[in-house]
Amino acid sequence: MTKKGLGLNTICTHVGEVKDEQFKGAVSPMYLSSSYEFLDVDVKRYPRYFNTPNQEHLAKKIAALEHTESAMIFGSGMAAISTMFLAFLQKGDHLVVQNTLYGGTVNFIKEELPKYGIEYTFTSGYSVEDFENAIQSNTKLIHIETPSNPLMTITDIKAIAKLAKSKSILTSIDNTFASPVNQNPIDLGIDMVMHSATKYFGGHSDICAGAVASTNDIMERIWNVGKNLGGSLSDMTVWMLERSMKTMGLRVKAQTKNAMKLAKWLDGHSKIEKVYYPGLKTHPEHQLAKSQMKGFGAMLSFELTSDLDAYRFQKELSLIKSSMSLAGVESTVISPHLTSHALLTEEERKAVGISDQLIRFSVGIENVKDLKRDISATINKINKREAIQI
Ligand SMILES: *Cc1c(COP(=O)(O)O)cnc(C)c1O
Repeated sequence: MTKKGLGLNTICTHVGEVKDEQFKGAVSPMYLSSSYEFLDVDVKRYPRYFNTPNQEHLAKKIAALEHTESAMIFGSGMAAISTMFLAFLQKGDHLVVQNTLYGGTVNFIKEELPKYGIEYTFTSGYSVEDFENAIQSNTKLIHIETPSNPLMTITDIKAIAKLAKSKSILTSIDNTFASPVNQNPIDLGIDMVMHSATKYFGGHSDICAGAVASTNDIMERIWNVGKNLGGSLSDMTVWMLERSMKTMGLRVKAQTKNAMKLAKWLDGHSKIEKVYYPGLKTHPEHQLAKSQMKGFGAMLSFELTSDLDAYRFQKELSLIKSSMSLAGVESTVISPHLTSHALLTEEERKAVGISDQLIRFSVGIENVKDLKRDISATINKINKREAIQI
């Protein structure tokens, strides 16, 4: 099936299906072979070559969703990002990365890149000038993340792509938080898009996977490194991921709609100090988000007023789970100061704007009224207990 002119939900449902020629089943058969015909064949198939039937076909769905020629599926988001970086950076090269970045990516950069003799600079902020200031004569790649974790800052994708192009530097983006449902960075000039498919692609908190999408030429370079690093995904999980992605458009749109309603409601709540959501008019980059996103996403963060115990808030919620990961159909919360940013000192956290009262909220598909009730009841409960203690 060609991708030309198809709508989002049709792409999610149909592009990249593996035809069941033998039995004419409605869904893709699962090919679990790790061994394929070798002699006299055009394609030498092997799981680690990212070209088994299920991998090859699902990659077409991802490419169609991100408006690229080609894509690859990996065993995790980190396998995707590390392979992408190592495909374009070698000894003596320099990487510019946004200062607010997924923790695992930060660790990879700091712990692994020096071993390869690759230099890097974290920007001092996320404005175009901050990126411009970080560029050196040996800069080969600029990597951004927008909306960012956990404060949902918005980076100007078009402006960064333009800046990089003017200096012949490649660009990559972590598009995990927005998903292709809400943002297509390739259309804004970015060269490579990566995803933690563990998040919205999977969407049910039961798959760990990653993806990169770009042109055929760029993907060939990534493939050459990827087959050596060996970060492919098992075909069983590839098959599950295909099934999950059929509903991605529906899920993410429902989650995005819920997030907008909840952000507005939380913004007006007396026990909520502040809400971070690009869909709110009060968000500093609201206009920019509006110009480059199709929807504002389903991730938001909020600060409880200082009299409430953020740890107990997470413990006492009943419907909403406190959980490490994000983007599932179920709503989850996490305290960045106890998890992703726990290794920073209090001053460092303050410098990047992460208070102890901050809660990151991955909004699911539940009914908004039930989510509101859970939050209200929890706030009342912990508010009362604290009043008694005084
Ligand atoms: C989870 C996540 C990753 C890493 O993905 P894994 O699948 O856990 O390896 C990268 N970037 C962002 C924004 C994430 O949320």
